[in-house]
Amino acid sequence: MHLFAHPEEPLDAHTVDRFRAVLDRRLAGEPMAYITGIREFWSLELMVTPATLVPRPETELLVDLALREIPRRADWGILDLGTGSGAIAIAIAKERPLSRVTATDVSAEALEVARQNARQLEIPNIEFLSGDWTGPVQGRTFNVVVSNPPYVRSDDEALDALHCEPRSALSAGEDGLDAIRILARDCRALLEPGGVLLIEHGAEQRDGVAAALREHDWSDVTCHTDYAGLPRVTVARTG
Ligand code: SAM
Repeated sequence: MHLFAHPEEPLDAHTVDRFRAVLDRRLAGEPMAYITGIREFWSLELMVTPATLVPRPETELLVDLALREIPRRADWGILDLGTGSGAIAIAIAKERPLSRVTATDVSAEALEVARQNARQLEIPNIEFLSGDWTGPVQGRTFNVVVSNPPYVRSDDEALDALHCEPRSALSAGEDGLDAIRILARDCRALLEPGGVLLIEHGAEQRDGVAAALREHDWSDVTCHTDYAGLPRVTVARTG
């Protein structure tokens, strides 16, 4: 603001050096969110570090669809698998304060960022557990399970441009469906009767995701398009 108000003032050498350092990082492909340490998601200011994926705007579709499933006045159990910065879990916990949200990640470092985000935003109805997919919640049940798992093909050239973000947050085998197949297989046992699973995926993965879900007897498998008209979130029910 000061800069805009006083364009005639020359910058001191220290400020110029700091600006050049930031510019070099950006030119090397580092996302602005890692440089500033923050990214807005669902109108919440989240801290992000190189241990977490930078939350994407299209993931708000997953939050939107999950909220349509969760009654405002119910104390439902909600599970977010692979929470990263906590974006999805925190948005749902904020919008549904009576729900009990559980957020997991295999990365202890990411989970620490998510925990700090919840603390900073004063979201009390959320717990964080570390471990491999459904491992940390074995024997428990939920009403809704959501996940934005890694789904990029391991040979996808897009990964080059995303080299600053954790590979384990993005890439999931030859067809990008390795993590989604695990979720399709293991999430039914975590859901109450009538429970719902919502998964974000790539625009070309609609059929692959539906096939993986049908193989494990999920019902009402429905794909939703994002605001760009691309098929990006599939919803399935226990039946
Ligand atoms: N939910 C966040 C979001 O939407 O911004 C992050 C999504 S990121 C695409 C996928 C997340 O899954 C990463 O945080 C990654 O650490 C986590 N992940 C990868 N493999 C996992 C596993 N085996 N078990 C649990 N989480 C895993």
